[in-house]
Amino acid sequence: MSGAPPGATEGAAADTGAAGARSVHLPAVHLILADPSCQPLLAEYGRVQTLAAARALLAELRGDMLRVANAGGAASSPAGQIAIPAITALLAQRLAQANRSPLRPLFNLSGTVLHTNLGRALLPDSAVQAVAEALRWPMNLEWDIDMGRRGDRDDLVEALLRELTGAEAVTIVNNNAAAVLLMLDTLAHGREAIVSRGELVEIGGAFRIPDIMQRAGATLREVGSTNRTHPHDYANAANAQTALLLKVHCSNYVITGFTKSVAVAELAPLARDRGIPLAVDLGSGTLVDLEQYGLPHETTVRETVAAGADLVTFSGDKLLGGPQCGIIAGRADLIARIKRNPLKRALRVGKLTLAALAPVLALYRAPDLLPVRLTTLRLLTRPAADMRAQAQAILPLLRRALGADYDVRDEAMTSQIGSGALPVDLLPSHGLTVRAAPGARVRDALGMLERRLRALPIPVVGRIAQDALWLDLRCLDEDQQQRFVEQLESLAV
Ligand SMILES: *Cc1c(COP(=O)(O)O)cnc(C)c1O
Repeated sequence: MSGAPPGATEGAAADTGAAGARSVHLPAVHLILADPSCQPLLAEYGRVQTLAAARALLAELRGDMLRVANAGGAASSPAGQIAIPAITALLAQRLAQANRSPLRPLFNLSGTVLHTNLGRALLPDSAVQAVAEALRWPMNLEWDIDMGRRGDRDDLVEALLRELTGAEAVTIVNNNAAAVLLMLDTLAHGREAIVSRGELVEIGGAFRIPDIMQRAGATLREVGSTNRTHPHDYANAANAQTALLLKVHCSNYVITGFTKSVAVAELAPLARDRGIPLAVDLGSGTLVDLEQYGLPHETTVRETVAAGADLVTFSGDKLLGGPQCGIIAGRADLIARIKRNPLKRALRVGKLTLAALAPVLALYRAPDLLPVRLTTLRLLTRPAADMRAQAQAILPLLRRALGADYDVRDEAMTSQIGSGALPVDLLPSHGLTVRAAPGARVRDALGMLERRLRALPIPVVGRIAQDALWLDLRCLDEDQQQRFVEQLESLAV
C-alpha cells in the first residue's frame, strides 16, 4: 500500500530474535472498509460480517508476512506490503466461500440414477414451480377451500393416489422408513408380525427390518428359511398374537437358485381367513408398468393392492420420481387407524413435499407422455446413442483439459437404477473413462483426478473401478452439458 497516511497501518512490530525486529505493513481495517473496492462486499454481506472477516484476514496475513520476514526475507521486502484492492479481492473470496450454501448442486456421473447420497429423484419443472409458489404463499395445506373449514393434508393427494393405485385410502409421511415404522407401530405394537427369513432386508443406512420392528414394539416372528418360504410356514406361525403378515421387497439383493417365496396373491387368502392384515413394503413405488418403456418389470402398487395386500408402503423419491416421502396405501379402516396414531403427527410431511408430489402424480394421468415429462423416467429411458453423442462431443475437451498424464476415451458402460430398485438390471449407457497414461508423471493419478473433479465449482461425481474413472453421461442433461464443459477449463493445471 503506498501513499497511506502515517498511522494508517495495523503493522505489527514483532521481536523476531536473531533475525532482528521486522515490521509488516498492512492497511488499517477501517481504510479497507472505506475503500471503494469494498463497497460491494458491504452491500452484500453487511458491515458486521465484512468487518469480522477483514479482521481475521488481516491477522492471518500479518502472521504469514512475519513468518516470511523471520525466515530471512529482506527487511524492506515489498512482499511486506499489500494494496487494499488485493486485500478486498481476498476478502471477497473468503466471504463468498463462507456464504455458500452447504447444500450444493453437482453433476451425478456415477452411473446410478436414483442415488440416495445425491438426493435420489430429480423433479420436473411443474413440481419445481409448485414448490417455489408454496414457499412464497400461504397454502390450503390443512384447510378445505370449498367448505371453508379445517381440512386434512393427506386429502390433497389422496384422490389421485387412490386412482393410481386402486387403494381405498392413503396417508403420506416423511419417507418409506417412517411409513413402515408407523404401520408396524399402529398395527403390531406389543404383538407379532410374521416375516419370511428371505425378506429380512437391510436397505443401507440404518434401515433394517428387524431393527425397525423392534423400535415399533413388534415382535418379529421369522418363518421359512433364507432361500425358501412356503405358504404353510405362514399358516403354521399365525396365532392369536399375530397382528400382521409382512412381506418386504428384496430391494437390493436377489436370492437365486433353489428358491421359493410366497407371492402376495398366495398369502392373501390366509390373511383373509385368519383376519390378519397383510402388509407389503414395496420399497420403490412403481405406479406404471415399466415394461412399456423398455425397462425391466417391477411390481406396481396397483398390482400389489389387486393381489390382496391390505396395506402397501413405498417411497416417493425412488421410481415414482417425486419428492422424499413415504406413502401408505390400502384399506380405509387400517389407514384411519394409522392416521390416529400420534406418531403420524411426528412423521407427517410439510407443504413443500405435498406441493411437489401433487404435480408429479398428475403426470401419471398421461402415461404415454411420462418418459418425456417425468425426469426420472426420462433419464432411465435415455438411449445409449444419446450419451455416446455427448461423450464424443466432450471427449476432446476433457482430453485437452487433462493433458498427457491421462488417457481419456469414450466407452460403453452400464448404469443402474439405484435406491434398491431392480438391483440386478443394468441399463446400457455410454460415457467417458479416464486412466493414468502409461508414462504419467503424477502419483495416484486417478485419486488426484477424482479430487480435482470434486473441487470444481459444480463438483463432478464419477466412479473409480478397474483402474479407471468412469463418467457415465446418462444423468448429464443436455441443457447442463454447456456448464459441464465450461468448467473443464479450470480442471487444467
Ligand atoms: C428404500 C426402501 C425403504 C426405505 O425407504 P426410504 O424412502 O429410503 O425411507 C424401505 N423398504 C424398502 C423395501 C426399500 O426398498
